[in-house]
Amino acid sequence: MSFLDDLQTLRTEALAAFGAAKDAAALEQARIRFLGAKGSLKAFAKRMKEVPPAEKPQAGKQLNEASAELEAAFAAAQAACGKPAAASGPKLDVTEPLPPEQRPEIGRRHPLTRTVDRLRELLGALGFEVVEGPEVEDERHNFDDLNIPADHPSRDSFDTFFLDGSRALLRSQTSTVQVRVMESRKPPLRVIAPGRVYRPDKIDATHASTFHQIEGLYVDRGVSMADLRGTLQLFVEGLFGAGTRVRFRPSFFPFTEPSAEMDASCPACGGSGCNVCKGTGWVELGGCGMVDPNVFLAVNRARGDNAYDPEVWTGFAFGFGIERMAMRRHGIDDLRLFLENDLRFLRQV
Ligand SMILES: [Zn+2]
Repeated sequence: MSFLDDLQTLRTEALAAFGAAKDAAALEQARIRFLGAKGSLKAFAKRMKEVPPAEKPQAGKQLNEASAELEAAFAAAQAACGKPAAASGPKLDVTEPLPPEQRPEIGRRHPLTRTVDRLRELLGALGFEVVEGPEVEDERHNFDDLNIPADHPSRDSFDTFFLDGSRALLRSQTSTVQVRVMESRKPPLRVIAPGRVYRPDKIDATHASTFHQIEGLYVDRGVSMADLRGTLQLFVEGLFGAGTRVRFRPSFFPFTEPSAEMDASCPACGGSGCNVCKGTGWVELGGCGMVDPNVFLAVNRARGDNAYDPEVWTGFAFGFGIERMAMRRHGIDDLRLFLENDLRFLRQV
């Protein structure tokens, strides 16, 4: 048999073997046999010595072509076989769910963030624009301009975090933003200010030294207590569902007059009484009232004009604790759960 005939035979056998390999292991066997370092093709190349000089160029060309053809045939057979692990194991079902311990952790927004987003959505639909203010404040914005007198107990260091060496403080309420917005804009305006506030309270199930409030302010001609009531009614129904009722109880805040504490009918029992509402049928949400004319006058002093003339403009304001809202919304009885980053809790709400 001549060199070229034998090469042709080798070529045919190798192609047949690659084509017949049923899995990656069989294909690898065929590769070692024909293309490996000690395989048939390498051994065959040594036979070039026997080829007469005149035929060498032709033989060399044929050998190279056969080699390239077999490498390509092997690559094609390998691609058809798929990856070795998948080909040798059971068929991969990409739709099968992973066992729980192998599933990737999927993040989600914190329940307080989700509550703020819901409040922004509800009040945004009623025309309120979101505004922000600084968390480090001065006494004027946190107290004076909100009509809180110098001898008021909330100005004590037991009730407010004063920063060392200055009269700067961490704001104890988001009402500061009311003053800041009115200083920089003329009426009418309708804004909400969600944000973090600070008080040196001992941490327990219903208190924390850092918590969140949302402040609302609406100033226009002819705004009345009825507008406040109507706005809060719509807001509460959006938050807790249709049929939720609103109740005002007379109260006092330095920056509103008249002032009210606002309750909603208990979202857990609908008002019949349960342990969430301690049997009363009502849950407390926050404070509200008509903007005290003294606040408008303080804003005018800071502005140096009479833009907020209390004879022309009236307004209402309200403030709610966001943690309290989230607790009512999700039936949570301990505020500390929001702060502990315990995934067993966070995954549930
Ligand atoms: Zn109840």
